Amino acid sequence: MNDCLFCKIVAKEIPAEIVYETDRALAFRDINPQAPTHVLVIPKEHHADAAALAEADRGLADDVLKAAHAVAVQEGVADGGYRVVFNTGPGAGQTVFHVHAHVLGGRALTWPPG
Ligand code: AMP
Ligand code: ZN
Repeated sequence: MNDCLFCKIVAKEIPAEIVYETDRALAFRDINPQAPTHVLVIPKEHHADAAALAEADRGLADDVLKAAHAVAVQEGVADGGYRVVFNTGPGAGQTVFHVHAHVLGGRALTWPPG
């Protein structure tokens, strides 16, 4: 995916503040944070959205969710509560079509989201 922003972050062609990494997942700070902790967790392999990730084989979705929780623990928000969000499709506000989990925490999070 030559023109994919997050593939370029995986390839280290675009800088990002990486906070966590495994062989198959990468986590970096959102450039426009919506909470004191706002980290994006992605599979290194390109999949467009959560639907595609759910159909990926070899437990890739599992790896991304485990990485999201590891980030929450590392960021110190796991005990107080945090949110993991996959905006999926334009109607849900997805703007980057390389699947990413938003890990949000560090403040009270209201429900329902906007
Ligand atoms: P979404 O709207 O769910 O697709 O989320 C895309 C997110 O990517 C937004 O929260 C953006 O602030 C974030 N974003 C866009 N470009 C970058 C970048 N270069 N580094 C880090 N986060 C980014
Ligand atoms: Zn990509």
